[in-house]
Amino acid sequence: MRDCDLADSKKTGKVFPLSRQLTGTDVIKKLLIANRGEIAVRIIRACAEAGITSVAIYTDADRYALHVKKADEAYNIGPESVAGYLNAHRIVNLAVATHCDALHPGYGFLSENPLLAEICASRQVRYIGPNADVIRMMGDKIEARAAMLAANIPVVPGSKGSLKDLDEALALAGEIGYPIMLKATNGGGGRGIRRCNSAQDLHKNYQRVISEASKAFGSADIFLEKCIDRPRHIEVQILADRHGNVVHLFERDCSIQRRHQKLIEIAPSPQINEEQRQWLGETAVRAARAVNYENAGTVEFLLDKDHQFYFMEMNTRLQVEHTISETITGIDIVREQIRIADGLALTYRQEDIQRRGYAMELRINAEDPKNDFLPSFGRITRYFAPGGPGVRTDAAIYSGYPIPPDYDSMCAKLTVWALDWEELLNRTSRALTDTGVYGVKTTIPYYMEILKVADFRSGSFDTGFVEDHPELTAYKTSRPTRELTAAITAALSAHLGL
Ligand code: ADP
Ligand code: ADP
Ligand code: MG
Repeated sequence: MRDCDLADSKKTGKVFPLSRQLTGTDVIKKLLIANRGEIAVRIIRACAEAGITSVAIYTDADRYALHVKKADEAYNIGPESVAGYLNAHRIVNLAVATHCDALHPGYGFLSENPLLAEICASRQVRYIGPNADVIRMMGDKIEARAAMLAANIPVVPGSKGSLKDLDEALALAGEIGYPIMLKATNGGGGRGIRRCNSAQDLHKNYQRVISEASKAFGSADIFLEKCIDRPRHIEVQILADRHGNVVHLFERDCSIQRRHQKLIEIAPSPQINEEQRQWLGETAVRAARAVNYENAGTVEFLLDKDHQFYFMEMNTRLQVEHTISETITGIDIVREQIRIADGLALTYRQEDIQRRGYAMELRINAEDPKNDFLPSFGRITRYFAPGGPGVRTDAAIYSGYPIPPDYDSMCAKLTVWALDWEELLNRTSRALTDTGVYGVKTTIPYYMEILKVADFRSGSFDTGFVEDHPELTAYKTSRPTRELTAAITAALSAHLGL
């Protein structure tokens, strides 16, 4: 087989990547997924394609979860619904006991906790991600900013270290000029961030952000930076192997956010030109090289109104919205993560990576947009996945699945591809209409409204879009006809004593 591959490459001049098992490297054979939900399902799919045995873990609350059904093996980790997925020692013990040679952290939970990578290393379980030192450095936004400044990458103007006290904050904010952002040094998931428009605001929010940071991230460290006025959030996906090869898979525009959390992401960004695109890609690769990065990562930037980019942070893990980069490049990022952890080299150079068309991802959350996006947990009475050209779903739900109230409300992702932007808008509306999620409220009807807004359609929007359009939650809710027919039939039958 190996000879055949080589012979082929002689004939055609092309180099075919050898299958993992034939490379002679000690490749991963069994992998534990330290996560749940759609991302656990995503990783199980990558394992199945790579011939790797997948091992799921689940808490009592997750006993009906889809990842439990799809994995080759699944182990119950007890009654603690959130803490269960955060117990690094216990999870690695389970990986060792079940003879896993690798562990994938997914996103959220322990994915940015250097302790997990450290424990894995000490137990000879390969961690699918960068090493603990890099996770620690990039997880600390102050250290990450310093590393980028040292590499001559522009960062948002702000603190050099964590703030000592309110007086220091007031003095620094006076220098930088309001508005400023107060942020948790170890923050993530859009939490622990507050805008202050004045010294009075800073007085009011200082203790608040400290207490949010301590509660959510176990560290009271906070810092401040200049608040960029109406920025675009543009991030770059990178891949780096152990052999010094670093490539980028172009950018994603994540400006459609609510309370600093992404709702819709688009690749490539419809709001930047080729020159900016090239600069971003090269700068993200430089950022990764500067910290000796390995595996998949994301470099996040803010773009201001004067077309200036600023480094914001780096995420040292697989990202929710990785699917749109996969869609425009054809590269399976989870497969690449596994190959990199195998110790294999990337099989293409930057110039081999092509992009085609546009892709959009919509996070389908079990929330009621009409009720301040309050989570809407409960049983999915029926679920129909959309289909047709250019449509991909990554879902954690199925008909009859009871969404537990213990976790994040994101229950599915819809990723749509089309050759041009206009076609993408039309196809995405069609795919949303094609999707049926019954039993809980979701963000689907809200996204249908976003797709009608002229600014969105013209490809011009910033992180203020959602706040600027409160009217989008005023859509009409009509009961789906099929549900209504079923209800009337049932009532009539009861009335007639049938
Ligand atoms: P992405 O950039 O991949 O979209 P997000 O910041 O939206 O990442 O986070 C993905 C998920 O992980 C969210 O549901 C969020 O609640 C969770 N998450 C992210 N960072 C943290 C963190 N540091 N601690 C706990 N949960 C986090
Ligand atoms: P997290 O780690 O929670 O993802 P980020 O630092 O990436 O936090 O910021 C999340 C979001 O908050 C950004 O996408 C952006 O919308 C907003 N934001 C963060 N910093 C600034 C800033 N300095 N100016 C304006 N908006 C910001
Ligand atoms: Mg971020």
